Amino acid sequence: MNILILGGGGREHALAWAIRQNPKCDRLIVAPGNAGTAHVAECADLNILSRADVLEFAQENTIDFVVIGPEAPLATGVSDALRDAGFLVLGPSQAAAQLEASKAFTKDICDACGAPTAAWARFADADSARDHVTAQGAPIVVKADGLAAGKGVTVAETVEQAHGAIDAIFDGEFGDMSVVIEEFMAGEEASFFVLCDGTDCLPLGTAQDHKRVGEGDTGPNTGGMGAYSPAPILTDAVQDQVMTQIVRPTVAEMAARGMPFQGVLYAGLMIHDGRARLVEYNVRFGDPECQVLMMRLGGQVLDLLLACAEERLADMAVNWADDHALTVVMAAKGYPGIYQKGTAINGLNSLTETSFEMTFHAGTAARDGHTVATGGRVLACTGRGATLAEAHARAYAQVDAIDWPQGFCRRDIGWRAL
Ligand code: ATP
Repeated sequence: MNILILGGGGREHALAWAIRQNPKCDRLIVAPGNAGTAHVAECADLNILSRADVLEFAQENTIDFVVIGPEAPLATGVSDALRDAGFLVLGPSQAAAQLEASKAFTKDICDACGAPTAAWARFADADSARDHVTAQGAPIVVKADGLAAGKGVTVAETVEQAHGAIDAIFDGEFGDMSVVIEEFMAGEEASFFVLCDGTDCLPLGTAQDHKRVGEGDTGPNTGGMGAYSPAPILTDAVQDQVMTQIVRPTVAEMAARGMPFQGVLYAGLMIHDGRARLVEYNVRFGDPECQVLMMRLGGQVLDLLLACAEERLADMAVNWADDHALTVVMAAKGYPGIYQKGTAINGLNSLTETSFEMTFHAGTAARDGHTVATGGRVLACTGRGATLAEAHARAYAQVDAIDWPQGFCRRDIGWRAL
């Protein structure tokens, strides 16, 4: 079959790498892709936010299955346009993608289905939001209600800090938005991935990531500096609780509202005293969590994603190995602030690519026979092994073989579990 993957990050390279291993995959195109996806697929220059452009491309290339990687095309309704035209798609409708795009929408769903999450309130003006914070006290969490690429959330330790965050949101820092104020939840965070076909759900694995740029989880937030799977804190008992109290009720509530959720549901969880509460939903794989999940799932992932799109997850099971995977993100120095683009990365050709070690590309391009960095997060060096320590050693062996003076990584990925 002909498969089109939308996106151009490490997540999409990992998806392409895994899907390519499945014999059902004849032709594989990644749009726009990167220097890494070019090794396993064709790359196509395409405006993936445009419903019309993606639809035309899929028709011209007789695509059988479209896998949507990032959230932005989901928020613009690319999946609806494709589904309406009869294409098989992995990715929720624009309506169902509100589970990521709108924090207030998700909170409403949680309230309606009884899923445990932080107490919350939504405000359309700064004065009432400030008054609410003054009455509640700190710590407290202030969120811009919309897609702000992880930058719209402030975990405020003082009332003053919370007031500052509210003012910034209403000053239009993220565009026209209202604000959600939440109770602060203490605990340890972990991510849980579930495939949902509108009715049935299939857990796809757990992971923990490292959001902060600095070692010891310090410094500003990033898109993610590394991840590992499985997440030991998400024991079987906690996973059962999450499926019973959070994921299944959410999927049922979405179906009841006439917007069945079909795709990857990524639950960001806070675990405290062996009980999970929902922090947020995302409606696609995480990046870099996808890299560790794909490393563990391999080629079977295509069968699972197809079953999801064809609404036959009830018949499916994941064939798990007793393994661990860990990925280390190499980023351009300066990231998540200002960084240089176009610097040359050497040493990539010396790396072996196997089911135990893969360097996934994110912000890279091929230029005059060289690989150059084109983004903030550039590579995801990923290892798999029988133990997390083995996976860790394989990931850092790749880091050490890469010659890129303008890049950096955290040396402590996985510290919590190791
Ligand atoms: P991202 O882009 O990382 O998905 P986001 O903008 O969608 O972020 P959230 O995931 O809701 O925002 O929040 C970002 C981070 O803030 C969370 O990963 C968590 O560490 C922290 N956080 C959010 N809500 C709470 C809460 N109620 N209590 C404690 N911490 C929270």
